[in-house]
Amino acid sequence: MYKDPNNAPTLPAYETSGQYAVWCCYCCRLHWHGAIPGHRRAHCTVPGSPYTTTGYVLDRAGPLTPALRKQYRDRRPERCRACGHQVSRLASERCMRCGKVLPAKRPGRVEVTA
Ligand SMILES: [Zn+2]
Ligand SMILES: [Zn+2]
Repeated sequence: MYKDPNNAPTLPAYETSGQYAVWCCYCCRLHWHGAIPGHRRAHCTVPGSPYTTTGYVLDRAGPLTPALRKQYRDRRPERCRACGHQVSRLASERCMRCGKVLPAKRPGRVEVTA
């Protein structure tokens, strides 16, 4: 049930093997749907995700390429160090459950400067 379907955002949907992959910035992962454009119910696992009240509209954006897959894989969700809740850094700088500010990301291995 959508409380507010009129405010559903339109998201790019990437097609692969008869399915649409939609990046959810609240879950920090791809949601999978059958490859039919239109309004969908979000499969969000993050409490308080706005998509669970609005759903979203799938807009066909082309094939899910290996480059896109890698790009999305690099945005994996993180765990809050204080309470263990799964948090999405892209959606908020704070844990949605306990409010703790997320620590800075570890620097990449390649960033070695003298
Ligand atoms: Zn989601
Ligand atoms: Zn937390």
